[in-house]
Amino acid sequence: MAIRNIFTGDAECLYKVAKPVEKFDARLAALLDDMADTMYHADGVGLAAPQVGILRRVVVIDCGEGLIEAINPEIIETSGEQCGYEGCLSFPGKSGYVVRPNEVVMRAYNRNGELIEYRGEGLLARAMLHECDHLDGHVYLEKVTEAPEGFEAPEEDCEEE
Ligand code: ZN
Repeated sequence: MAIRNIFTGDAECLYKVAKPVEKFDARLAALLDDMADTMYHADGVGLAAPQVGILRRVVVIDCGEGLIEAINPEIIETSGEQCGYEGCLSFPGKSGYVVRPNEVVMRAYNRNGELIEYRGEGLLARAMLHECDHLDGHVYLEKVTEAPEGFEAPEEDCEEE
C-alpha cells in the first residue's frame, strides 16, 4: 500500500477517456489499495484512477458510510436534483456550485469481478457522478454555474472528491 501522487490542474491524464479494466488481478487490487490510502490521506470522499495518472475505469468513494471500490462503473439511473458546492482533490482549495441529480444508481464490478448495484443519495450520489465524470476526462469545473442569490456558500472548504 502506498500513497500515490494526485495530478492537479492542467495534467493531461485528467482530460482523457479511461479504458475499461479487463483483468481482475493483483495489480488491480494494489491500485485499489493505493487509491483508498491516497483518498483517505488527502481527506477526500472520492478518487478516480486518472487522478493518480492511471487511465483505467476505477474509482474509490467513501462518504462516511464505508469504502466503495467501483470498477468499470456505470450510472444507470438518476433522479431528483441537488444544488451545492463541490470540490476535487485535483483542484485543491477550490470549490464551485454544481447542480446534480440527487439519487443515483451505479452499477460496477468489485475487485473480485462481481457486478454490484449501488444506490446513492445526496453527497454519495454527487461523489458517484463526480468520479464517473473523471473516467470520461471531465472535471467538475465544466459544470460549475453561479449560485442563485441568497444561496449560502460553505464557510469551510467543502469536501473534495
Ligand atoms: Zn475530482
